[in-house]
Amino acid sequence: MAQILDGKIMSAEIKAEIKAEIERGNLKVGLAVVLVGGDPASRIYVDWKKKDCAECGIESFEYVLPENVEQSELLSLIDKLNADKNIHGILIQQPLPKQIDVLAANERINPLKDVDAFHAENTGRIMTGDYRLTACTPAGVMEMLKRADISVAGKDCVVVGRSNIVGKPMAMMLLHEHGTVTICHSRTQNLSEICKRADILVAAIGKANFITADFVKNGAVVIDVGMNRGEGKKVYGDVDYEAVEPLASYITPVPGGVGPMTRAMLMLNTLTAKKLQS
Ligand code: NDP
Repeated sequence: MAQILDGKIMSAEIKAEIKAEIERGNLKVGLAVVLVGGDPASRIYVDWKKKDCAECGIESFEYVLPENVEQSELLSLIDKLNADKNIHGILIQQPLPKQIDVLAANERINPLKDVDAFHAENTGRIMTGDYRLTACTPAGVMEMLKRADISVAGKDCVVVGRSNIVGKPMAMMLLHEHGTVTICHSRTQNLSEICKRADILVAAIGKANFITADFVKNGAVVIDVGMNRGEGKKVYGDVDYEAVEPLASYITPVPGGVGPMTRAMLMLNTLTAKKLQS
């Protein structure tokens, strides 16, 4: 039976550590959260982030722009937030409406305030290993491995998914910890065979229950990044948990695994951003 990597417990520990550091230093830390339009899921995510801020002693500032906002208006808000000394982190909740050039918005954020680490300067730093602000989801996975004392060095690591926000930075971070890393995607041949070689398997695909027992080696560490909405409020991971859990040595649940760790890393990035700007 696998040990569960509990993201709720670990993220609560991380948030308590952040709060303690902020209190110890009597720091004033601010995060701006920008929401464009009225997407209900985005609204929920923004509310969660504001709650996380309150728990950590970080002040949150919410900016809501209409769905049909022009690109120039969003960019001028970013300019204003870049110049605001009370704001140390800027987060633009995604997805953004079609008329917005997401890349241009990401690039407009001062890299020192880029707490999602989507700016080219921060993604580039992940390549070189000279991290400052790191993509929250892969950073959350690395923190989970570290806190569970799971060593990456020399292990066969397979990451399924090559997105800029999860798969690619995940692979780089595992590589920097000396894993032997394979990145898979929709054109990969013999996917299940490759996954079955993994000591550490990370699924970041976006397809509910895609990773079945056929993909998993006995004793593997299985990290499920997927968050796939089912009917109602039910969320499914990319891993078929019931089938895979008996094989794995460690496994993350969905919900309650990587998701809360991602949010905790956003808080940690906000504190790091404050230090970088001081
Ligand atoms: P993307 O859609 O950007 O990327 C999905 C990746 O999976 C792509 O690289 C794609 O390959 C690959 N893929 C798709 N189908 C297959 C297949 N049949 N076989 C192998 N690979 C396949 O998604 P994201 O990276 O943004 O997110 C992935 C999942 O993680 C989603 O469920 C998302 O909701 C979740 N997520 C969870 C977070 C959390 O906090 N827990 C944070 C961010 C995301 P190709 O490149 O060839 O198209």
